[in-house]
Amino acid sequence: MDQAAVRDAFSRYSSAQAVFGLSLVRRHRPGGTGECRACGRPHPCEQRRRGAELIVHFG
Ligand SMILES: [Zn+2]
Repeated sequence: MDQAAVRDAFSRYSSAQAVFGLSLVRRHRPGGTGECRACGRPHPCEQRRRGAELIVHFG
């Protein structure tokens, strides 16, 4: 692979990760009792934090 192809592949990978992170954060929201709506764990749950990390790294 040449440089441009590597950049291209990484850019696609980054957007995919950012989109995935966003979908995690959107799904794992706090419910009325302070627990995650999606997985029922205390908010912010592990997946929510993971999603936020992905957005920070790849967004
Ligand atoms: Zn959750």
